[in-house]
Amino acid sequence: MNMNDNKTALIPPYGGKLVNLTVSSEEMEELKAYAANLPTLRLSERALCDLELLAVGGFSPLDRFMGREDHRRVLDEMRLAGGHLFPIPITLPVDLADNGIRLDRDIALRTRKNELLAVMTVEEIYEWDHDEVARQVLGTQDVRHPLVAEMHGWGKHNISGRLRVLNLPVHYDFQALRLTPAQVRARLEAFGRRNVVAFQTRNPLHRVHEELTKRAAASVDGVLLLHPVVGMTKPGDVDHYTRVRTYKALVENYYEHDRVALALLPLAMRMGGPREALWHALIRRNYGANHLVVGRDHAGPGEDSRGKPFYGPYDAQELVARHEDELGVKALPFRMMVYLPEEDRYEEVSKVPPETPTASLSGTQVRDHYLNKGKALPAWFTRPEVARILGESYPPRHKQGACIWFTGLSGAGKSTTADVLTVMLMEHGRQVTVLDGDVVRTHLSKGLGFSKEDRDTNIRRIGFVAAELVRHGGVVICAAISPYRATRRDVRNMVGSDSFVEVYVDTPLEVCEARDPKGLYAKARAGAIKDFTGVDDPYEPPHDPEITLDTVHATPQGNAQRIIDYLTDLGFVRAPELVSDSH
Ligand code: ADP
Ligand code: ADP
Repeated sequence: MNMNDNKTALIPPYGGKLVNLTVSSEEMEELKAYAANLPTLRLSERALCDLELLAVGGFSPLDRFMGREDHRRVLDEMRLAGGHLFPIPITLPVDLADNGIRLDRDIALRTRKNELLAVMTVEEIYEWDHDEVARQVLGTQDVRHPLVAEMHGWGKHNISGRLRVLNLPVHYDFQALRLTPAQVRARLEAFGRRNVVAFQTRNPLHRVHEELTKRAAASVDGVLLLHPVVGMTKPGDVDHYTRVRTYKALVENYYEHDRVALALLPLAMRMGGPREALWHALIRRNYGANHLVVGRDHAGPGEDSRGKPFYGPYDAQELVARHEDELGVKALPFRMMVYLPEEDRYEEVSKVPPETPTASLSGTQVRDHYLNKGKALPAWFTRPEVARILGESYPPRHKQGACIWFTGLSGAGKSTTADVLTVMLMEHGRQVTVLDGDVVRTHLSKGLGFSKEDRDTNIRRIGFVAAELVRHGGVVICAAISPYRATRRDVRNMVGSDSFVEVYVDTPLEVCEARDPKGLYAKARAGAIKDFTGVDDPYEPPHDPEITLDTVHATPQGNAQRIIDYLTDLGFVRAPELVSDSH
């Protein structure tokens, strides 16, 4: 390791030097005080990611949200006004209405929680055209493209101007891996190798990725920069907490430690296919890489509304290859690899045999796998440590939470049935919490009455608690009259429709009134209590409950069994013969 040896010097940043927009500590105090009186612009999650990468030089030589000329040329030619390649517009769109943004004035850029990030001098305000940007940059106006859809909600003007950054967005997770371009460069230099192969990813890595990244780095005798995106990826991807845990496990256990560096990139992806691939190459150059693995359909957003991929499978590789000399980053094609079970090894193929999994699994696929199979991914496909972490984040249904929501008149049989169901669920190994109407009213909702507003509040409180319990993997049984359809619908949405089972206890009013277990109907008829459901307050029966129970002809036990059967079909409860199978 000799840092003065020219042979091991890393490629310099694009444009010669890293942009750094952070103000000096002397300037800091004064600027902070000054910012306190400026109009505020709160940044979207995307703008926050962009600002961070602008500030640390990830987008060098770009040093601001793009002005009109940069923007024009980026759309038409993939170049900044000064001539440097830059394929993706980095803009700050705003709604001009009443936010104090004026030409030649300073504004304070802040997070949604009002934390001060930067002072921006508004040097340009210009209109942009959604359809033009969509067409030129993304090659489509189809709203199935996530960014095309998102851009419809952006402000109609872009603003640009000098940025003075006071604070970078703070990240409290995986702090040791959140490295700026300068920090990554320092790490890479310590390896003493000139070649650095960056690997971009937004998915968990499987065995083929491991093979591929190792081979790619070895092919140029370089270091691997494992550089996953943790800013914004495609909606539905595996969340970054889960992914980063898997990357750490892989690097720790399966890569040679003098050949790999892991760092997180707070990039907001655009899912822009070829242009995005070129952008990824440019960004990685700033972090010190001179190679980028570019896969089939790199940064592609899936299929359009006609069921066709948005971009050709090799468009991204070709576009990067065409600019590799100018950019100083060479595209290493991601060859398809398949596993040969007889030989227990992986091989590159040009055409993948049908039904051979090669690439990564999306969040939906991972979830489906664990939901349907309830088993770990096979070892030839995923390292056991990775499979275990994915399995924890995507537990099978019988370890996921569920809410059984009883609704019906007072005396219909909600509590009676819920009590039987509770015992049966516990027999099946589930943890159960019962939020019974009467009990809730002595604790959670003590003091609330039976007016429309109070009932609504009561049900929403129950819904809030139920949603939290479900999120943490518990089964919660709610048994309140919950007479209003709209409130029940809101509660269903709070919990999540996939985990919500509405059980309508459909006992006729005359039967409830004849039962009158608490003597309340008699009191209501006598006018001793008011707003009693069915007497002088309406009950709105559900239109589409998952289950409707008859308590006149069926017993509490028979009804509870019906619910168990339903939950078993969905997988929330395991059929008894499977209980000994696995965990
Ligand atoms: P809710 O919780 O809906 O207000 P409860 O469960 O407290 O109603 O009261 C229902 C009453 O009806 C109980 O006294 C129960 O014994 C009686 N009952 C009679 N048959 C049934 C049945 N098949 N299912 C549930 N309860 C029944
Ligand atoms: P809701 O879902 O409308 O808030 P709850 O299920 O919380 O109703 O009601 C709990 C219990 O309070 C009922 O089972 C019944 O025993 C009693 N109750 C319901 N309505 C009234 C009322 N208007 N006045 C007095 N007690 C009531």
